[in-house]
Order: sequence, then C-alpha cells, then structure tokens
Amino acid sequence: MIDVCNIQVMKPLLAEHGFHFSKAKGQNFLIASWVPQQIAEDAGVDETAGVLEIGPGIGPLTQQLALRAGKVCAVELDFRLKPILAQTVGEFSNLEILWDDVLKQDIPALVKEKFAGLRPMACANLPYYITSPILTALLEAECFESVTVMVQKEVAQRIAAKPGTADYSAFTIFCQYYAEPEILFDVPAGCFMPAPKVTSAVITLRTRKELPWQIDDKDTFFRTVRASFAMRRKTLQNGLASGFPELGKAGAGEVLTECGFDPGVRGEKLGIEEFATIANAIYRRKNHV
Ligand code: SAM
Repeated sequence: MIDVCNIQVMKPLLAEHGFHFSKAKGQNFLIASWVPQQIAEDAGVDETAGVLEIGPGIGPLTQQLALRAGKVCAVELDFRLKPILAQTVGEFSNLEILWDDVLKQDIPALVKEKFAGLRPMACANLPYYITSPILTALLEAECFESVTVMVQKEVAQRIAAKPGTADYSAFTIFCQYYAEPEILFDVPAGCFMPAPKVTSAVITLRTRKELPWQIDDKDTFFRTVRASFAMRRKTLQNGLASGFPELGKAGAGEVLTECGFDPGVRGEKLGIEEFATIANAIYRRKNHV
C-alpha cells in the first residue's frame, strides 16, 4: 500500500499528475499517518460498518477506512484526483468513489443503497469552507450511527459546548439535538500539507436513537432556539418577541413566566430541556392546544 502520508512519496505522486492544491476546495491533505489511523480506530470502524467518507483527497483516511470497514463509499468533488486515487486506493474492492459534490447527494437514499446490512457511519477530514452545511446534512439525514470528523478546533468546541459558555450557540443545540458529541483529540497544523492557519480537532457525534426530551414540534423548537441566540445581548423575552412577532413582547413574557423563567433571562444560559419547555408552551399557545 502506498504511504500517502509520506511527503517523499506524496510530492512526486502529485507532481506526476500535475496536481496543485486548491484552497477554494479546502484541500489540506494529511501527512501524519497516526491521524487517519486514529480516526478510523476511534470511530469504531470494523467489518460491520458501512462508511461514507467525504473528500478522500489522495486517500490517507480512505486507506485506513477500507482496511477495516465492510464497505466504504467516498464522495470527492475534485475530478483531478481520479488518477492519483486509482494508484493509492485502487486495490480495495470494498471501496466505491462517487465523483460529485457531497452537498448535492440524497444522503439517506445513498446510505440505503450502498450500506444495506451494515452499520452506517460518516468519517471525514472535512473541507472546512463547508463544515456547517455538511454536518447539517449528515445529522439531518438521521441515518448514521455516528459521525466522526476533523474540523477546526474552535468548531469542535462550539459543537460540544455547555450552556452559559462563550462557545454555546444555536449550532451547538442543533448538533446536540441529534447527537452526543465528544472531542477526541487535537491535530496540529503541521500534520497537513499545506498547513492550515488553524489547529484542528477530531470530534465524534454519536447520534441519538431516542430524544431524551419531550419536543412537541421540531420546527417551533428550532425557531425558539434561533430566536434566542439571534440577539445574544438581549433578554430572552426580546429575542422571542422578535423571532415570533405573532407573540409580541407581552406574549413572550407570559410564555416565559408560565414556564417558570424570569423574562430577563439570557437564552445562552438555557439547556435543551429548557428550550423544549419554552417551545412547547409557544406551540400550545399558537395552536390553542
Ligand atoms: N481526506 C483527505 C485527507 O485527509 O488528506 C483530504 C481532506 S481535504 C481537507 C478535503 C477534501 O474534500 C478535498 O479532497 C476536497 O477536494 C474535497 N471536497 C471539497 N469540497 C467538496 C464537496 N463539496 N464534495 C465532496 N468533496 C469535497
């Protein structure tokens, strides 16, 4: 197997095919072999797993996944990588590469078609310019057992943040609604070529089989969350009044009091359970339930 993390091997390989890194496509390739090995190990990939990889690049993680998984399906946007991947991962019969934009995929349909009888997982060293849309699509697909990805360290901290901290955001709640996050390890910039300007971290999101909260209406729940974080410096009453003009300021205050909260409380202090209580009260009020 070609050691694609070895610069002495990788540079001539890229030169042979006239390949130049594309910043616009988020191309920072791994050159530290412990990283893809650790990602595949920590993700729990074995022969019972069907793994969707996003952006195989020249294949360092793809190799480690294909060595362990029942099947790997990798989606890569940059067609210039085709002859290189043919050399680095062409030997794996359990690997299929789709040459397309991952954001254009019907992910639940893809998982159903490619991974029948296997435990679906997603694993990737993500292109950072589209971290949020990719994570959103992977979690909303609701078909993976886990999603294990390399992201910017600050994004990993945002995903795993606790209420009341500076990193806590609407995106935190979105991710934690679907999954339980755990930051696994940091990856220094020197582990990539070219080196990015930021430190990276690998995070795993174990998706929830059942929600531990009573949420009467998902749309109202996420609208409540967005309204609460849209104006971080304002009180929750003002945030809700802006996000739900039909409630008005007085109605927003009534909802909060009814739920046992001080209308002056800040949204960033509340956990998912508390947002669920408020969203359920708004939903009942709007629907006269
Ligand atoms: N997995 C390789 C590694 O760890 O060295 C490459 C990771 S690099 C950070 C991100 C990869 O995602 C690149 O190969 C890039 O071409 C690919 N990519 C960028 N945008 C994409 C998209 N919309 N759909 C699929 N792949 C994409």
